[in-house]
Amino acid sequence: MSQEMIPPGGVIGILGGGQLGRMTALAAANLGYRAHIFAPERDSPAADVAWRFTCADYSDVSALKSFAGTVDSVTVEFENVPEGALTLLAELKPARPNSLSLATAQDRLNEKNYLESVGFKAAPFLPVNGPEDIVSALENFGSPVVVKTRRFGYDGKGQVKLSEPKEAKDAWVELGCSPSIAEGFIDFVREISVITARDIGGNIVSYPAVENRHENHILRQTIAPAPDLGKLAAEAEDLAANAIAGLDMVGLLAIEMFVTRENNLIVNEMAPRPHNSGHWTMDFAATSQFEQLVRCAMGLPLGSTEVLCPAEMQNILGDEVHDWHQLLADPKTHLHLYGKNEARKGRKMGHWNRAI
Ligand code: AMP
Repeated sequence: MSQEMIPPGGVIGILGGGQLGRMTALAAANLGYRAHIFAPERDSPAADVAWRFTCADYSDVSALKSFAGTVDSVTVEFENVPEGALTLLAELKPARPNSLSLATAQDRLNEKNYLESVGFKAAPFLPVNGPEDIVSALENFGSPVVVKTRRFGYDGKGQVKLSEPKEAKDAWVELGCSPSIAEGFIDFVREISVITARDIGGNIVSYPAVENRHENHILRQTIAPAPDLGKLAAEAEDLAANAIAGLDMVGLLAIEMFVTRENNLIVNEMAPRPHNSGHWTMDFAATSQFEQLVRCAMGLPLGSTEVLCPAEMQNILGDEVHDWHQLLADPKTHLHLYGKNEARKGRKMGHWNRAI
């Protein structure tokens, strides 16, 4: 057994208490590990299925130190965990992913520069520190442009699309006058993503690229694998492997891309954690993305990413969760609910997987 391998019975520390942490904790339990969740929200879906829960702020140094004392390695289920929290923990226990991966993914400007440096093409972009930069983007990239805050954006939040220089000031105010980036608008034909995993020995495996369909900026459906991708399938996987290796990270890296009319890949963003577009793996891949993360975090060998059967995943949003009995009535539907009490509009309450 490798020195760095943490045998079953050990504890995985997870920063973040959402559904991704919940499914990681469940996968850890399946392999005989226990999970300790650290999250500031009392109401954390992951805490319901975990061995321990520390409810504290990410800036609470003494809570972080006590947490570190109880775990064998640390991972994240949420990329906006302050980098300082992971850096502190990394001095005490293996951090998988490392804080460089987290810092790179947290800032859209760093993220785009990094992804270009490993071979991806990105939409043309420039940093925005005031409305005049948005006007420059319109002049340089043509209309429309998409302006996104550098930090804390998700599911289309912190994002504005505009076409005219006269809209620049309002867009800047709408984004809270926060440092942002402006991107040229990509007239894509489809959106895909790849999830890649890297173990402590530097071995890399990827799940095949999948196709994602969004509604109101929120993922609605994933088709796995993405049909008829041709040469782009291998290209996306190779680039994702470059990206995870370049960060020297251990864990999962999800990368979202657009496919253009000319059949080129344009990278959008990355996340060093399990990803919504990988939920199909729970029922239709040889190893689920959550088990894969546990394997990485605990220093185990990577699992097979073989597709058992092509599949569809759909998110269950807001009130749709009340239809659980209809979904269960179909014996071919694999239902996964996150145990969230409040079914707010657009909130991810669960998902289902089906063979196609
Ligand atoms: P993001 O928050 O960067 O993941 O963007 C959310 C969604 O907005 C993406 O999944 C796309 O559907 C759309 N989007 C983001 N950036 C662009 C772009 N540069 N051109 C066209 N659509 C975009």
